[in-house]
Amino acid sequence: MTTLLISGLALVAGGLWGSFLGVLAVRVPQGLSILTPNSRCDHCLAPLSPSELVPIYSWLTSKGRCQRCHHPILPEIPVSEFATALFALIVVILPEPLSLKSALLLFFSFALPLTLIDIRHHRLPHFLTLSAILAGLAFSFFGRGYDGILLSAEGALIGFIPVALVALFYSRGIGMGDAFWLAAIGAFTGPLNLSIVLLVASSTGILAALVLHYASPRDKRGSLFGKALPFGPFLSLGGFLALAFPGITQALNNHILEIPL
Ligand SMILES: [Zn+2]
Repeated sequence: MTTLLISGLALVAGGLWGSFLGVLAVRVPQGLSILTPNSRCDHCLAPLSPSELVPIYSWLTSKGRCQRCHHPILPEIPVSEFATALFALIVVILPEPLSLKSALLLFFSFALPLTLIDIRHHRLPHFLTLSAILAGLAFSFFGRGYDGILLSAEGALIGFIPVALVALFYSRGIGMGDAFWLAAIGAFTGPLNLSIVLLVASSTGILAALVLHYASPRDKRGSLFGKALPFGPFLSLGGFLALAFPGITQALNNHILEIPL
């Protein structure tokens, strides 16, 4: 009964938090306030009624459209609500330490809006990446004191510098937003996990580029190397895996990359 109650609470809280993350994904790239005005239709600008504010349920009952102008609701909102509710449920029921669950939920709260923004706008706003760096540093400090924050700062610097240099001298393909996002990931995972983050991000990125290239019609394919694929979602995936499965990254570091831990 207790597990059922906790799962229900995780779904509700996750849906509500996901609604806010969806607002971040929509408003931050437009330079709009994330607090005011209250939630509204992005097309006719009418404020949403209380029933339209219920996460997931309102999207299902309105069939994904505004009840006044019938314009489709931006997918970022329902995607965030669904994904966060599901993620919160999984994290809550898994038998992991509370510190890891908290780290995963905090990391997810930045990774999801950044991923959605990068997919639509091909950029990673500094407001979110710098906030994520601060959150990673603060989390390490509260968890492990000064040793934790030093390791976290080292992860942020080692994540930032090489990618920032690439972005400065070869801006095509990788941007400063990627450097700040990898710095934030380093602040959460520490420096030793960054090799795994980059390995996962680059291999899944290449795989996705190949799949997209060969799945598109032959006459519209163009050059494989001419495709601009956002890198942020793949960095998010790498960061998430490194954070969620420290044992796997440790084994990979030891046996494949031969980095002693
Ligand atoms: Zn509308």
